[in-house]
Amino acid sequence: MEKFRQIIVDAGKEMLRRSLTVATWGNLSVRDPESGHVVVTPSGMNYETCTTEDMVVFDRDGMLVEGKRRPSIEKDLHLLIYRHRPDVNAIIHTHPVYSTVFAVTRQSIPAITEEFAQVVGYTVKCAEYALPGTMELAENAVRALGRERAVLLAAHGAVCAGPDMETAFKISDVLEKTAQILILSKSIGTPRIIPEEDVRVMQDFLKTGYGQF
Ligand SMILES: [Zn+2]
Repeated sequence: MEKFRQIIVDAGKEMLRRSLTVATWGNLSVRDPESGHVVVTPSGMNYETCTTEDMVVFDRDGMLVEGKRRPSIEKDLHLLIYRHRPDVNAIIHTHPVYSTVFAVTRQSIPAITEEFAQVVGYTVKCAEYALPGTMELAENAVRALGRERAVLLAAHGAVCAGPDMETAFKISDVLEKTAQILILSKSIGTPRIIPEEDVRVMQDFLKTGYGQF
């Protein structure tokens, strides 16, 4: 699991570097697709100084496998998403400003740019409010996430779920940028939502027809 612990240590620093969160807020996890084990960040630790030893590992049933630290209070949120989404192997939970504007007003972020359509999905919904660190919050988030790659937590922040950590960061970046564009575009006009059918076509195109062989 050392490789996966290191992915989280590096991702924690990357999250700070990208200003996706402040101090010890936000949390991350990654799943080893082979063993099904999940590495989660420890609770309330500084990402600058965290090492692989500080990480907490759970098995596919949510039982503690390794780790001497207390895990992130949102570990149930991470574990429940993995249980419902076999396609997800990395999750980032952050508190970025523009996405959180939608989370506090409890609005969805729809596909208004092709970039969002390709990388994130059709609609990122806001989950019903629940206290942080509760199973209720985890269940509400899983329900609102559906088959998409991100969900907003009411009065709280965003959760991005990807097939790997690199993609999860990309989802996080595009979600935040789109939230900003949506707010700005409403100040000069009416942003138009891309039809769902076209969103699915663009997602398929990205999977099969974009980039080099
Ligand atoms: Zn949070």
